[in-house]
Amino acid sequence: MRGNAFEAKVKADGGTELMRLLSERLSGQSPPPASGEVLVPDLSAAGPEGRTARTALALREATEARAWALLDHPLLALEVAGSPAYLEPDAVVVRPDGRWTVVEIKSFPMIDGSADAAKVGAAARQAAVYVLALERVALHTAGAEVADRVLLVCPKDFSNLPAASVVDVRKQLSVTRRQLARLTRIEDIAAGLPEGTTFDLGHCSGEELTAAVESVAAAYAPECLSACELAFHCRHRARAEGAVETLGRGVRGELGGLTTVGAVLAAAHGGAGDPADPTVSALRRAAALRAEALAAAGASGAPADGAVDGSGPAVSAIGSANEAVTCR
Ligand code: SF4
Repeated sequence: MRGNAFEAKVKADGGTELMRLLSERLSGQSPPPASGEVLVPDLSAAGPEGRTARTALALREATEARAWALLDHPLLALEVAGSPAYLEPDAVVVRPDGRWTVVEIKSFPMIDGSADAAKVGAAARQAAVYVLALERVALHTAGAEVADRVLLVCPKDFSNLPAASVVDVRKQLSVTRRQLARLTRIEDIAAGLPEGTTFDLGHCSGEELTAAVESVAAAYAPECLSACELAFHCRHRARAEGAVETLGRGVRGELGGLTTVGAVLAAAHGGAGDPADPTVSALRRAAALRAEALAAAGASGAPADGAVDGSGPAVSAIGSANEAVTCR
């Protein structure tokens, strides 16, 4: 609710405050447009295809008119794995020079000009997807160019006054382009499913839906918890399989070919694994250090936590792996 109220405040009065922030951050010395100079097209239409087409038309009209325009919650389409995905940025501003800028309005605070790096990173990744979708429209619009720097608007300090920052999303754009190019097409995933599999909520029982979801491979990572509605389901499944992905992508990357917590523990304690494998030898060294630290702590009665100086990812992996096993 607070986020919605803040967004409404930023866009109030035909986007006067938003244009001021945009001009201040992106237009150098040029003054912001007066509220009457900013077009705010009506983007309503029936269905996602209608809204997408209406957005594209509004972008084209504003660019041809060489006018300032504020598109409030436009709808964009982007092909993901061969199917259209619909995306709704908070706003897109068209400038008289034909440049389109994505605006993201967030409710986390910007304190003394900087905000939580993780939240800014997430906003940058999100905005980069919008930029990619806008580029598809710009390809068919003469004189249009999509800015690779987006405007992030947040509450200033702990007030409800807006503060803005320009975020360069070129890196996120190249990563997202690469990821989109590598995605398996939905038709190919569908071809591998059992005959008759459906995710139709209206015609499936709970058991059928669970079976349908289970039939699709998942690649759970803790990041899913903040981004996907299926996260608890996939985490439960990954934990049940003892998958090391539950410990995080960084740990997963460190563990090479060891894909389960059981395999990691067996390798660390000498029960399995090739000693010539650098991952296995690092795990054994880490396990020995851990045992040494625990023994020393036991002898002195001091807590073992933090006893191993410079405990790197391998030590952490074993610690986490032990915790994961204990929890199950
Ligand atoms: S939680 Fe969502 S994103 Fe993560 S693996 Fe499961 S379905 Fe995929």
